[in-house]
Parts: sequence; structure tokens; C-alpha cells
Amino acid sequence: MHTPNFIPPLQQIFDPIWDEKGIKLYVLRTDLNHPEISGNKLYKLKYNLEEAKKQGKNTLLTLGGAFSNHIAATAAAGKLAGLNTIGIIRGDELSDLNPTLKLAKENGMQLHYVSRELYRDKEALMNYVRTKFGENIYVIPEGGSNTLGVKGCMEITSSIHIPFDFICTPCGTGATLSGILMSLKDEQQTIGFQVLKAEGYIKKKYKIG
Ligand SMILES: *Cc1c(COP(=O)(O)O)cnc(C)c1O
Repeated sequence: MHTPNFIPPLQQIFDPIWDEKGIKLYVLRTDLNHPEISGNKLYKLKYNLEEAKKQGKNTLLTLGGAFSNHIAATAAAGKLAGLNTIGIIRGDELSDLNPTLKLAKENGMQLHYVSRELYRDKEALMNYVRTKFGENIYVIPEGGSNTLGVKGCMEITSSIHIPFDFICTPCGTGATLSGILMSLKDEQQTIGFQVLKAEGYIKKKYKIG
């Protein structure tokens, strides 16, 4: 991808509460890595874009809800990489685009809405997509959550140049958490915070506990 090789800075958060406990708290500012492909999204897309190009595909297709940051990030990344983008959006088209979808559209993404029923049935959805958009598309799953997405997320910790014991991350699909987990040293631990509503979905998905 033609994004600069940006190393996100570590920002220390000062508060007496951390001093009392003897904890040093830092935020890894991955949100600064690109104005529109921010945070973990750049890491998840990096190797997928490379793979799409390697396979000679001219279009990226991905899917998500109307507020998916991944949808907007894919649109911006595709534009940078010179690839067309299609976003399969769950649910009905609303007359006013929200800021996420507006940004995606401004970056040239073709938005295509499907019913919640079809969206849920991933096999039927993929058949539908292949029939409609043909074979010259590179499909990135929901949230950029595939092996290459996880591989990219293994690089998140490589920009942390201080020793640390714990690393915390929000979890949607869990791809970011997986990449971080795979890159840690034995003595380091990670804590994932589920951000979606369905209780226990990460544990269920990864069959933990
Ligand atoms: C995408 C996103 C997540 C989820 O990342 P996963 O790799 O799907 O777990 C969490 N927080 C924010 C702010 C995001 O944009």
C-alpha cells in the first residue's frame, strides 16, 4: 500500500489513579496512522491488498453494517492502491448516508445493500456476490478478519519500543486480538474488550472457556 511507513507514537496517560497502583499506562496511537484508514484497519488490510494485486484482481469487495469502520477504511485503501471497491451493506439503504458510508462513497466505493436475511447466510451471500460481480473481485470478509488480516495485526506490537506486561484492545471480530496475541512474548498478556452487543461472542467464536 502507498501509505507512508508511519510508526504510531506511544502516548502516556497521566492520572493519580495509575500512580497509586504503580501502573504506567500508554495508548498506542494507531488512530494517527492514516486519516481514513486508521487504527487496526490499516494492519488488517495491508496484506489483503498485496494479495489482491498478486492475484491480478482489480476490485476489492467487502461487507459490513452501515457503521462499519472497516467499510470506510477499505474504500480509502482501495483508492490509494488503485483498486475499485464494492461494499455489501447489511440492511436497507437510508435516504441520508451516515458519515461512515458517506466517506466510503466519496472514496469511490460502490455501495450495495442486501437484506439482513441474505447477509446472515454467508454461503448464499457469496453465491449472490459472485453471480452479480463476477470473478475479478477479491473478497475481504467482515471486519477484514481473515488470516492475512491477522498477519497484519501481528505487526501492531512491533512499534512498541518499551517493555510492557499487558496490552488491551477492543474486539469486534477478534482479528486484532488474535494478531496481537500471536506476536507477544511469553510473559506478556493481552486483554480483549468486546465492543459488540452479543454477550460472549468472542469466546463462542474461538471456542474458549
Ligand atoms: C474495527 C474496530 C474494532 C474491531 O477490530 P477487530 O479486529 O474486528 O476485533 C474495534 N474498535 C474499533 C474502534 C474499530 O474500528
